Amino acid sequence: MAMPSALDELVAALRCLPGVGPKSAQRMAYHLLQHERRGAERLAAALTRALQTLHPCARCNNFTEAEICERCLSPQRDPTQLCVVEMPADVNVVEQSQAYRGLYYVLMGRLSPLDGVGPRELAFDRLLARASDGVVKEVILATNLTHEGEVTAHYLAEMLHARGIKVSRLARGLPLGSEIEYADAASVAQALLDRRDY
Ligand code: ZN
Repeated sequence: MAMPSALDELVAALRCLPGVGPKSAQRMAYHLLQHERRGAERLAAALTRALQTLHPCARCNNFTEAEICERCLSPQRDPTQLCVVEMPADVNVVEQSQAYRGLYYVLMGRLSPLDGVGPRELAFDRLLARASDGVVKEVILATNLTHEGEVTAHYLAEMLHARGIKVSRLARGLPLGSEIEYADAASVAQALLDRRDY
C-alpha cells in the first residue's frame, strides 16, 4: 500500500483535534500551508516541545515540566486540603475564585462507563495514595455538577470514606449540570465556602 501523501497525512493528523471533521481538517491544512506557514512551524515546534517536556506532576497529576509542580511545592499552600477536579482548566477557575489555598489533584477526566473510562483508567489508586499521605485532612470533591461528575464524586467519596478521610463536596450554589470550567469565579468561591460534608 502506498504511503499517504504529505497532505493526506496532515489532514488526518488534524482530525485528532476535538470537533474537527474531514472538511474542517482540510480547510485548516490548506490555511496553514497557504497563509500561515510561520504559524504552522511555530505550532509544530511548540507541540514537539510540549510533548517532550510536559508530563503529569507526581503529586497533583497536572501537567508540569518538573517532577513536582511549583504549586505542589509552594510553602504558601495549605497541604491539609486537597481539591479534586476533573481537568487542568478547573484548577485555573478555582484559583481565580481566590477562595482556596490548599492543594489539588487533577483526575484528567471523569467516570464514563459508556466511553470505557473507569476507576482504573483514571488511576484512582494514585489519588487514594495521595490523599492518604497523613498530611491531607480534607478532600474537597470539585468535579463538575453534571451526571458524570456526580457519579465520580460519589465513587471517590466511598473510597475515601473507607480510608477514614474527611470528604466534602461543592455546594449546590452552582446550577445543576454546570461545569466548573465555565462557571464564574464568584459562584465557584461561594460553592467552595458553602461546601458540605459528603
Ligand atoms: Zn503538582
